[in-house]
Amino acid sequence: MEKVIGIDLGTTNSCVAIVENGTPVVIPNRGGYKTTPSMVAVTEAGKRLVGHIAKRQAITNAENTVYAAKRLIGRKWNSPQVKNAVATSSYRIVEGPHNDVRIVLREKDFSVPEISAMVLQEMKVIAEDYLGETVSKAVVTVPAYFNDNQRQATKDAGEIAGLDVIRIINEPTAAALSYGFGRNIEKTVAVYDFGGGTFDISVLEIGAHGVFKVIATAGDTFLGGEDIDARIIDWLVSGFQEENGIDLRQDRMALQRLKDAAEKAKCELSSVRETEVNLPFIISSGRNEALHLQRTLTRQTLEELSDDLIERTVEICKQTLEDAKLTKSEIEEVVLVGGMTRMPKVQQSVQAFFEREPSKGVHPDEVVALGAAIQGAALVDDKQEMVLLDVTPHALGIMTFGSYFEELIPQNTTVPTHRTKIFTTSRDNQTAVKILVMQGESQRAEENELLGEFILTGLRRAPKGQIEVEVTFEINADGIVSVRAKDLETCLEQSIQVTATSGLTKEEIKAMMDNAKDDLVDRRTSEEFEGAKQEAEKLIAEIEKLFPQVQQIVASSDFGRDAIEKAKAIVDKARAAIDRRDVTSVKEQIEGLTRTHRMFKGVVAKT
Ligand code: AMP
Repeated sequence: MEKVIGIDLGTTNSCVAIVENGTPVVIPNRGGYKTTPSMVAVTEAGKRLVGHIAKRQAITNAENTVYAAKRLIGRKWNSPQVKNAVATSSYRIVEGPHNDVRIVLREKDFSVPEISAMVLQEMKVIAEDYLGETVSKAVVTVPAYFNDNQRQATKDAGEIAGLDVIRIINEPTAAALSYGFGRNIEKTVAVYDFGGGTFDISVLEIGAHGVFKVIATAGDTFLGGEDIDARIIDWLVSGFQEENGIDLRQDRMALQRLKDAAEKAKCELSSVRETEVNLPFIISSGRNEALHLQRTLTRQTLEELSDDLIERTVEICKQTLEDAKLTKSEIEEVVLVGGMTRMPKVQQSVQAFFEREPSKGVHPDEVVALGAAIQGAALVDDKQEMVLLDVTPHALGIMTFGSYFEELIPQNTTVPTHRTKIFTTSRDNQTAVKILVMQGESQRAEENELLGEFILTGLRRAPKGQIEVEVTFEINADGIVSVRAKDLETCLEQSIQVTATSGLTKEEIKAMMDNAKDDLVDRRTSEEFEGAKQEAEKLIAEIEKLFPQVQQIVASSDFGRDAIEKAKAIVDKARAAIDRRDVTSVKEQIEGLTRTHRMFKGVVAKT
């Protein structure tokens, strides 16, 4: 049977695993390590380095060594995350030709998927060395909170690396697979995944016969161990500034050394109560005198420095349980994933929140890759009984007339899935509609993320609301979204796979939306319309009830007959507006209906 490797492509470290004779195992690299730093460098001689060897030379070649590329994958140049990385990275990040991100190494530009591809290729080689044969298929994991562009870019990275990525799965889901594999358990499990760059929490139901169903998932793609490192760096830098009046941030090399020292101190403090940060000759005072940095960091200080970050992960857990409509006591197991869960304070906070001791059975650095390997094996082996039901982390929908976000697929819907809704044209003689595909939870479209857009043309000219457009969203098993719009009259169709425009700034999204306003579709049953319709129908019913009486009273005068005719016309107009589902017109008629109703009641009351 064809071998499929599972790769955990991490922000800081990556790991590769395979199922051998029914048992998932992690494959060590040539140095005997089970994880490999997700670092890439180019040396002065133009040689490409990946993994431990790249990490070892990072200090002396900081400008040409890439770390944490995962934070940039699938993002657009003008996104806040990229701006932040540009300001804080020791390597150069520049704008690419498609509003994307490029990394400059020795004067050559690389796209982020190219950099990630080098890491994936290294994992492929590690597996091939171990197996003694070539490997071409892989399951690669991504944070559950990754959006469509980030997933697609990860797939691209696999392709560049010469790997057929047969499935992208979410990291916490992979962890649960690994936890539940072969145990024949039925349990509700929370996976708390705190890694180098991201935080994820997922709640899953592990059912009989190997069914893994994700109930809810949430996270923050910009909250990880590196943020804790940054707090330590701040603490060291400001201490040094107070003592020596020199800002160490000015020096790239010093900053890289600080980064290393901060991470090392943080990891050490997971097993000891205090540690010394010692960086001799960190900078020159400018008077031909080298300065050293030497400071003791205690576990308690580290905990104070990182308290709010850890608290944020707990808040996200709380929210996720609420979304899943579960109480803490319904969670039967908590699985810890990611290097940051080695920090005692993190373990204590998780334990305090869930009121139970986290599972000790899984290895936080390996569990994700093992889960990916399990999924890989299941995909090529028909005999394996395993069903993986993941969910979409964000609601998906389109923008409709009036800048509303009309949801088609709610958050936490099991994927693969597809949903269809019918919309109508929003103005008279509209011959094209623009579909703005969005992801997010807000009712206001501009507050959500724009994923892509396309235009369906060739609609017949007709009064607004008459032409119906059927919009279908589909999410495949990789979590990748495609959207289709169909003119129900001509059956003409347009579709996109959503990969286009994520990462735009809010202003740009707003501008794009303003430009598109005239061409948008309308909700067929908007809440606004439903409200107006109800009000109008209530008035019509009351007017009609009074009609015979009023007619009897006023029919003898010309003025009265005229009033009756006008009232009938208003009622007819209102009915027509309701039939057209034209909310503006219904609202206009409500005024006339109210006047007529008041007049009718007056006439009846006088007699
Ligand atoms: P991951 O993305 O899962 O590989 O996690 C990497 C993160 O875990 C990095 O921020 C590491 O500094 C952090 N980490 C690794 N080992 C430890 C440890 N023993 N104590 C605290 N943090 C750790």
